[in-house]
Amino acid sequence: MKNGRVIKGTPNDNQDSELVLINKYTRRELSIDEVYVFSVVLCDNDVDRDNEAFSNTALELLGEMFVGKTGVLDHNPTAKNQTARIFSCRVEQVQGKTTAYGEQYYRLVGRAYMPRIDSNQDFIMAIDSGINKEVSVGCSVGEIRCSICGADRRTTGCAHIDGNTYNGKQCYSILDKPLDAYEWSFVAVPSQVNAGVIKGYRLNNKEVNMEDIIKCLKKGTAVTLDKAQADKLNSYIELLEKRAVDGEQYRQDLTNQVVRLSLIVQPEIAKSDILDIADKMTIEQLKSFKSCYRARVGDTLPTVPQLSKSGGKISKTNNTEYNI
Ligand SMILES: [Zn+2]
Repeated sequence: MKNGRVIKGTPNDNQDSELVLINKYTRRELSIDEVYVFSVVLCDNDVDRDNEAFSNTALELLGEMFVGKTGVLDHNPTAKNQTARIFSCRVEQVQGKTTAYGEQYYRLVGRAYMPRIDSNQDFIMAIDSGINKEVSVGCSVGEIRCSICGADRRTTGCAHIDGNTYNGKQCYSILDKPLDAYEWSFVAVPSQVNAGVIKGYRLNNKEVNMEDIIKCLKKGTAVTLDKAQADKLNSYIELLEKRAVDGEQYRQDLTNQVVRLSLIVQPEIAKSDILDIADKMTIEQLKSFKSCYRARVGDTLPTVPQLSKSGGKISKTNNTEYNI
């Protein structure tokens, strides 16, 4: 989660062209008096409190991705009426301002609108009076590089530590190649700005990615998960548990078939012995035993009604499975 801020609802010269853009998203044409338009700084190229900075090209790409995205007040998606939508974005150069690493400062500014309806009045008032100043954005990036040596932070890594200085240059992580901008929201609670809270998201809240979580767990790295990530991990475990049950069921079915076929093909071997052996076999071995036995059963018994209980129904079932 990155933080930007709201710029007061400033009047501007492009009202008509903005209204055209806004009306792309509305069910009926709204007049300029019916909408409240304001600007939000979504992110910039300066080093933030996580020692991360978006590249300039990342800002441009994020600008395209945020257009059309709705933002909610206080991370509360159920507050349906209290949403605003970004209808245009641009990267602004702020004259005279430089980043912590001494380059020209750029920021991604979104123009957002919300209808001037009663339920939005308090919110509009809050923006106008500067209370809802913070905006937090969620996005995923494809690349996180070391600013000193360019190493990929998520794969190879390097010895440079964010925040340290090397030959007079501050080390930070460059966020690049954005993949998706999935949310932006107003943060009205000042404590959200607390660095400690943000640090809790350190695994990389820009990328709630199962692979990354698992990678950290495998490495034995200390991992802090936020709620969304913990939920994701939980549902992933549930999925694995379900698959394990399915897998066990499949193995059981396969074993039963091999045992049954074995009793036909080589009745001299006791069922308990076959079960013992099957127990030690891999799925692949069971499968090859099954097809081998099947072939031999075919040789000895031309018709195998007792083995194909469902008979002609099999193909029908298979067809419906593909008919999703
Ligand atoms: Zn490095």
